[in-house]
Amino acid sequence: PLVREPLQAVLAEFDRVDSWIAEPTTLIAAATPTRQVRAPSNGALIGTCRDATPDDVDATITAAVAAQPSWDALGGAARGDLLDRVADLYEENRDLFLSICQREAGKTLTDAVLELREAVDFLRYYAAEARRLFTAEGEALPGPTGESNRLTLHGRGAFVAISPWNFPLAIFTGLVAGPLAAGNTVLAKPAEQTPLIAGYAIDLFHQAGVPSEVVQFVPGDGKVGALLTADPRIAGAAFTGSTETARAINRALAGRDGPLAQFVAETGGQNAMIVDSSALPEQVTRDVVASAFQSAGQRCSALRVLYLQDDVADAMLAMIRGAFEALVIGDPADLATDVGPVIDGEAKAALDSHIAAMKQTGRRVWQHDLPAGCAKGTFVTPTIIEIESIADLTRENFGPVLHVARFKADELDAVVDAINATGFGLTLGLHSRIDATRRCVQARSKVGNFYVNRNQIGAVVGSQPFGGEGLSGTGPKAGGPHYVARFATERVTCID
Ligand code: NAD
Repeated sequence: PLVREPLQAVLAEFDRVDSWIAEPTTLIAAATPTRQVRAPSNGALIGTCRDATPDDVDATITAAVAAQPSWDALGGAARGDLLDRVADLYEENRDLFLSICQREAGKTLTDAVLELREAVDFLRYYAAEARRLFTAEGEALPGPTGESNRLTLHGRGAFVAISPWNFPLAIFTGLVAGPLAAGNTVLAKPAEQTPLIAGYAIDLFHQAGVPSEVVQFVPGDGKVGALLTADPRIAGAAFTGSTETARAINRALAGRDGPLAQFVAETGGQNAMIVDSSALPEQVTRDVVASAFQSAGQRCSALRVLYLQDDVADAMLAMIRGAFEALVIGDPADLATDVGPVIDGEAKAALDSHIAAMKQTGRRVWQHDLPAGCAKGTFVTPTIIEIESIADLTRENFGPVLHVARFKADELDAVVDAINATGFGLTLGLHSRIDATRRCVQARSKVGNFYVNRNQIGAVVGSQPFGGEGLSGTGPKAGGPHYVARFATERVTCID
C-alpha cells in the first residue's frame, strides 16, 4: 500500500462515476463499433470503439498535413497555453479518468492516481518547453561582425504518436503533447487494449481549443499503426512499446519515399537490481517488492532480475518473501489490492508459459495462490524464481515475476557485464552504502536510468528524462530539457 489513506476522499466520489460508466460507452458514436473493450479484472464489457479504416487513415493524414503550417505559426507561447488548458481539464476530469483507467487497464487506484499525475506533469512541462524553445526571435548565434545570426525551431510536419497499453493515459499524453508542443500536428494511435481512456483524453484536447485537425484520434491495432507509418506524408513517429514493434516501425519509415523521417522510440528492458552486503534489509525489501510487483509488474522500468550478494542472500530473500506473501491480489477496484490483473489473455498465456518452463528446469519457485475471485479475469500468480544469471532469460517477462540470482563480492564487474550483455539498457537499481561500489557500477553499466538505494519505478516524469539505450530505445529520453526539441527542425537565418 503506497498512498491508500489520502485516497479515501477520491473513493467517496466513485459511486457517481460508477453509475456514469456502468453502461458501456461508445467512443465513435456514429459508427458501427468494431472493437469491444473488456475489463481485464472480470471480462465485463466496458466500452466499444471503431477502429480506423484505411480511408480514415488517409483522410486524417491529409487533414493533419494541411493543418500543420498554421499550428506551427501559432508559436510556442500560444501552444503552451493550450497544453496548460488541457492539463487543467485533465485535473477537472480526475474521477472519470481514474475510473476508466481502473476498468480498462486493470490498475489499482494508487496506480491510476499516479498515472493521471504523470499525464498532467507531461502536459505542464511540455507547455513550458514550448514557451521556452519556440520563440519568434529564437536564439542568437555567433557570426561575422555586422551580421545577425539567429537559430529558430519549427515543427517538422504531421507526426504519428503510437502508445502502449501499460500507461494508457500518461505515456499516450506524453507522446501526443511532445510533438504538438514543437509545432507538429499529431495522429494519435493508442494501444488497441486501451482506446477508451485515450479517446476521452483527445476529446479534452479539443475542448481546450486545440483544433480537431491538429490532434486526431486514430484508434486500431498494429495494422492501423503500420498504415500510418508507411505513409510518405508522415514526418516522423513518436513511439513507446516493445523493441520488436519499434523495429517494424523503423523499417516502415525507412522504406518509404518522401522526406526522411524522425523516429523517437522508448522500448523494453531487462531490468536488474544489485544488492550488496552493506545494504539496509528493510529498505531493500520495500523497494524490491514495489519495483517487481507494483502495477502487476507491467512497467517498463520494473525489476526483473534481483542480484543478491551471497553472504546476505538467504536473510534478504527471507525478508523479501515475507513481504511478497503479504501482497493482496485481486480486484483493482478494491482498495486493499496490491496486485491486479495483467492486461489480457495473451499477456497471461506468455507469463504462465514462462513460469511453467522455469519450473520444468527444476528451479526453486515461490508463488501465491490466486484467490477464487480472480477466476474471471486475466490474473497471473505473483512469482519469485531462482536463476543462475540474467543470461538465463531470453526475453522481457512483462508481469509480476521476479527472478533472483546470487553473486560473490569479487563478481560485481561480471554481474554488470552480464546485465549489459542482454543488450537492453533501461533501468538498473543498486542497494549499497559503499560509494566506491556506486561509482564503479555507474561507470560500467549501460542504462538510461540508474536508481541507488531506492525503488526502480517511481520517477518524476516531464522534467526528468526517462528511457534507455541499445534495445531499450533510440535515446535521448522522454521528458527532460532535450525531448521536445527532438520533434523540431532547426533553421538558421543569417542577415547582413
Ligand atoms: P507493443 O509493441 O505490442 O504495442 C505498442 C503499440 O504499437 C500499440 O499501439 C500497437 O498497436 C502498435 N503496433 C503494433 N504493431 C505495429 C506496427 N507494425 N506498426 C505500427 N504500430 C504497431 O507494446 P505493448 O505490449 O503495448 O507495451 C508493452 C511494451 O512497451 C513493453 O515492451 C514495455 O517494456 C514497453 N514500454 C516501454 C516504455 C519506456 O519508456 N521505455 C514504457 C512503457 C512500455
